[in-house]
Amino acid sequence: MVYADFQSALAPYGFFFPPDPASGVVCTLGGNVATNAGGLHAVKYGTTRDYVLCLEAVLASGEVMRVGARTMKTSSGYDTALAVFHKLEDAGQAVTRVMHSEVTPSVLELLDGSVISLLREHAHLDLPEVEALLLVETDGMTESYVRFQLTKIAEMFRGCNAAEVEVAATMREAELLWKARKSIGGMMGAIHLDYAPEDITVPMSQIATFLRRSEELSRVHGLDLFNFGHAGDGNLHTNILYDGKDPDQVARLEPLLYELHKLACDLGGTLSGEHGIGMTKAKYMPLEHDPTALKTMRKLKQALDPNNILNPGKMMLPG
Ligand SMILES: Cc1cc2nc3c(=O)[nH]c(=O)nc-3n(C[C@H](O)[C@H](O)[C@H](O)COP(=O)(O)OP(=O)(O)OC[C@H]3O[C@@H](n4cnc5c(N)ncnc54)[C@H](O)[C@@H]3O)c2cc1C
Repeated sequence: MVYADFQSALAPYGFFFPPDPASGVVCTLGGNVATNAGGLHAVKYGTTRDYVLCLEAVLASGEVMRVGARTMKTSSGYDTALAVFHKLEDAGQAVTRVMHSEVTPSVLELLDGSVISLLREHAHLDLPEVEALLLVETDGMTESYVRFQLTKIAEMFRGCNAAEVEVAATMREAELLWKARKSIGGMMGAIHLDYAPEDITVPMSQIATFLRRSEELSRVHGLDLFNFGHAGDGNLHTNILYDGKDPDQVARLEPLLYELHKLACDLGGTLSGEHGIGMTKAKYMPLEHDPTALKTMRKLKQALDPNNILNPGKMMLPG
């Protein structure tokens, strides 16, 4: 079943399935489980694995394995606010403060200056020209609790030098903001034919450092990049624009990608928070995993799939 169809089927009953991957209109629940998909709401509700208590799986041997239990989740409403930061570092500090506080936002997204310009120009949104915006959503069982959490978060943003914190006045205003946030990927595809969409993840405290250094790397390698993503869990979407027909730009892409992934790992992060390793990131595995860990993964794969028929060649495992 396709994720979006499942979500639509749940809505009339007041339920929702929180992982919320950006590929929701095309990906399937089976794929979500296999890749442990996550998205905007992971910061509060976790990823797919948090909702999988019951599983029927066909092993490489053809045997069927079952494990199982039950769960459910609901919420009555939500509130949205937008915080404006002149300095990236202040936005990074605000994320850390909120995520270490007693309130947990249901979504906490960061947009850097280049993405803000993109939204100003192509979505015609009246956003300020600053280094960072934080977009936050709170939810809960009562309206007063939803608003209480948002007020607390707004106070923390102001305490971290937010130039402005604007609470969405109407549901329509909030929907417009989230629609714009969700359209960033598609917008980039529309204005530029080729872009490398990454899902590097760093510890929350290192978000600002990663973003600053990624700007430097972008300058050094002469390729533009956009940074936005799920600040609340450190999962950033770094998108590099390049012209696939220009051999010089293609040649510069790989060293930039390598250095971005190395930077994430050096900062204590991971190569992929959502998209997985597959084949394209397989070559970076030694940046994150030491030889002993890689050897152990290969042994596990060999034990579970001795004929190597499940996803051969992925993740630097045999293929
Ligand atoms: C534009 C775009 C945006 C994306 N955004 C996100 C995002 O925000 N968050 C995120 O986590 N991921 C994202 N992804 C990655 C991907 O869409 C998700 O990981 C999704 O969960 C994969 O589901 P799928 O149905 O497309 O699986 P596929 O890509 O078809 O398969 C993925 C893996 O799952 C296995 N698999 C699929 N179905 C089953 C099954 N029934 N039983 C056993 N194994 C199975 C396949 O063998 C394969 O190894 C994005 C991808 C794209 C292209």
